[in-house]
Amino acid sequence: MLHIDKIYINGEFVTPHGSELFDLFNPATEAVIGQVRLADEDDTRRAIAAAKDAFPAWSRTTREERIAVLERMYLAVRAREADLLEALITEYGAPSARANWMAAWPAQTIRCAIDALKPFSFEERVGRAKVVMTPVGVAGLITPWNSDAGFICSKLATAMASGCTAVIKPSEMSAWQTQIITEALHAARIPAGVFNIVTGRGEVVGETINHHPDIAKISFTGSTAVGKHIVESGARTLKRVTLELGGKSPTVILDDADVKTAVHLALEAGFMNSGQACIAGTRILVPASRQAEFEHAFVDAITAFAAGDPRDSQTVIGPMVSQKQWLRVQGYIQLGQQEGARILVGGEGRVAGKETGWFVKPTIFTDVNNQMRIAREEIFGPVLVLIPYRDETEALAIANDTDYGLNAMVLSGSRERGEALALQIESGRVMVNTLEHEPLAPFGGVKQSGLGREMGKWGMQAYLEPKTLVVG
Ligand code: NAD
Repeated sequence: MLHIDKIYINGEFVTPHGSELFDLFNPATEAVIGQVRLADEDDTRRAIAAAKDAFPAWSRTTREERIAVLERMYLAVRAREADLLEALITEYGAPSARANWMAAWPAQTIRCAIDALKPFSFEERVGRAKVVMTPVGVAGLITPWNSDAGFICSKLATAMASGCTAVIKPSEMSAWQTQIITEALHAARIPAGVFNIVTGRGEVVGETINHHPDIAKISFTGSTAVGKHIVESGARTLKRVTLELGGKSPTVILDDADVKTAVHLALEAGFMNSGQACIAGTRILVPASRQAEFEHAFVDAITAFAAGDPRDSQTVIGPMVSQKQWLRVQGYIQLGQQEGARILVGGEGRVAGKETGWFVKPTIFTDVNNQMRIAREEIFGPVLVLIPYRDETEALAIANDTDYGLNAMVLSGSRERGEALALQIESGRVMVNTLEHEPLAPFGGVKQSGLGREMGKWGMQAYLEPKTLVVG
């Protein structure tokens, strides 16, 4: 059993003032694997005070000094990849192939921040003025459970590269992954107070961050509902906000696409991270005249996407992170049937042979129209919908008929045709014939998928404000 009873404030592991104990689970077995002692409002205020004290010195560090610290962070996080891998499989249920990627990603995000910082232009002349990009102050970094270590490292490294100090509030469900990352960051000898980590509940630690006058900016990744609430509660102190929220991303398969390749990529996009991905391509648009052909192709291809034990190398889809998520996904599978959609594969209930563990059958609905709730709401599990379209104009209209706009994919036999359609899709990112991403490019959503961008120079700009100096 794991007993995690320390948070990290001002360069030290300290026992939280908060005393609530929270169970940690192995989602593949439903067994309790440990407990974490949660931070409270007092702890959060102490962490904010430490970050505030550390800000003047850190904000004045040179580019070279920041790079030196970030390089140490990179090496320290890399050194813990094997531990992180184990925690990702056991605490999160990530299938081993995915877990390998997720264990390596946190260090890569630090490398990206270094790459963004090296050429970053902090000063510019505009006529008689000098414009200096100035760090905003203490940043509150609030992260979800579906990529705990990755979000902590990418937000923290970018905030630090920009000269900000930080208070991090990770999800309480990922305390083991957070513990490993905290130990790594401690080993990197980051100056005391530059980062502080207070694992606790959103309505306790998160709310304290939302309202505290010494938090200048919040970078939040999570649900759209909580994101909107953060904007409202941060308005009183006019906090700067970056929000990375939910999605209902379209995958548009054009009629000139190679069916087999397109269907496989569409399933990879839809089932990534066991369906628990904000960027998952959950609405798959197929030509109506060839609906039956595509349905057959999806039924054939889905055999390559097995749900099961995360330690089995054949597994592509692991369990849902919690019983709450499992029940939510089951609710949507019931709803889809009530709405008149037809289950092509999968359906309600547990995966065959898995009586314990929060496993969901990979499910595809067909005969779906874009007004159904299963086509409009984020399910956050391995449940996809096939939506037929008559022509490219209708495909575009369906793709854009959504509250969200985080990610999209276009699959076409012609790059030019794919790119032309991609330019018309309302989305922060559109992939054409590929799932390979570019980590130095801006990431974030339009419409209700978020506000602002992370990663690369755009990510740094979000922690900076221009100061104009006119010297007579
Ligand atoms: P969530 O919004 O419930 O929680 C996210 C974080 O916010 C957690 O740390 C939580 O404790 C905290 N929180 C909850 N209430 C809060 C409050 N009142 N004030 C401040 N913080 C609060 O989301 P989740 O269930 O952890 O994650 C799943 C959601 O995250 C999905 O909707 C998914 O689309 C989204 N997500 C988005 C991205 C992206 O980059 N756009 C990436 C991953 C996940």
